Amino acid sequence: MKSYVFPGNIEEEILQIGAQQIPYMRTAQFSALVKASERMFLELIHCTRGRVLFYTASGTGAMDAVVSNFVATHGKAFVIAGGSFGRRWQELCTYYGCEKDVFEVPFACDIDYAALEVALDESRPTVFLCQQHETSTGQLFDLEKIGRLCRARNIFLVVDAISSFLSDPLDMDAMGIDLCITSSQKGLNIPPGLSFVVLSERVLAEPFAHRSYYFDFEENLKNLERGQTPYSPATTLFLQLHARLEMLVAKGVDQVIRDVREKAIYFRNLCAKHQWEVPAEVPSNCITGFFVHRNAEILFTELMKQGLYIMPGGTPHYFRVSHLGVQSPADLDELAARIQEIEQR
Ligand SMILES: *Cc1c(COP(=O)(O)O)cnc(C)c1O
Repeated sequence: MKSYVFPGNIEEEILQIGAQQIPYMRTAQFSALVKASERMFLELIHCTRGRVLFYTASGTGAMDAVVSNFVATHGKAFVIAGGSFGRRWQELCTYYGCEKDVFEVPFACDIDYAALEVALDESRPTVFLCQQHETSTGQLFDLEKIGRLCRARNIFLVVDAISSFLSDPLDMDAMGIDLCITSSQKGLNIPPGLSFVVLSERVLAEPFAHRSYYFDFEENLKNLERGQTPYSPATTLFLQLHARLEMLVAKGVDQVIRDVREKAIYFRNLCAKHQWEVPAEVPSNCITGFFVHRNAEILFTELMKQGLYIMPGGTPHYFRVSHLGVQSPADLDELAARIQEIEQR
């Protein structure tokens, strides 16, 4: 099976960890593994003196944790809605009764940063919620620009980097990100089931709300002191995470990102060759979103019959191929050839 979804194909050595007996987690050994994982995480995401909360939950769990613990105590939010994941921030604010203004960004377009500046001055929010990469469209937003706008207005910057961590450059300290979230099945390319909230030093000094028992920041931070989670962690995933983080640190985050970028560029050249339009104004390295010309209604299932998995895009004729898993140029050549064959039937 060749997977171009989240996660993509995973290395055998990481898969094998999932086939072993599961160790007990209330041990000094497991605590040491959690603490080492936290240190490596902070290094990869460039967050000095921050903390990482590990939740046994998919990425949306981390989004929920941020809104229920942080946004709920910090006044008005400002949401970038550039696709279905931006909408999720909006829905979470509605769910928890947080006041918010929403800035709409058209499909696969970049933010109009001058218009954003005007909107921020009008809205005067306390917290800014966005994605670095809006995974539904492939569009990458400019966090350096967003960071500057927020810092100048003393707005807390919260970034959903679930699909951009390890695919596009991300530096929490340099970009002025206060809170950042990610999850296991995207750039880390291990099975789904873990999500992470990275809290900067600045945010750690802030008060938190207590509106979600499982996700409570204070309770989770207290347990983190001893390298534990308050409730049963997905032990196997923590072991796979630790192994993955060691591989990433050994390779170096810049090289990791260059490798993803290389796969993305290779596939985009194939798209150009077949005239499949890539709509994103500034595409993330994470995925290539593209339009096919014909037979879109059968493409997903016909590829699946051949053991190839890509993602339907929610927009007619639009599909997405992830570049986060193990994939060679030959794999991508083959994928493009199969897509073309189906398109021309
Ligand atoms: C995948 C993803 C999520 C979370 O989705 P889950 O299915 O809950 O893991 C959130 N935001 C972005 C940008 C994503 O790519």
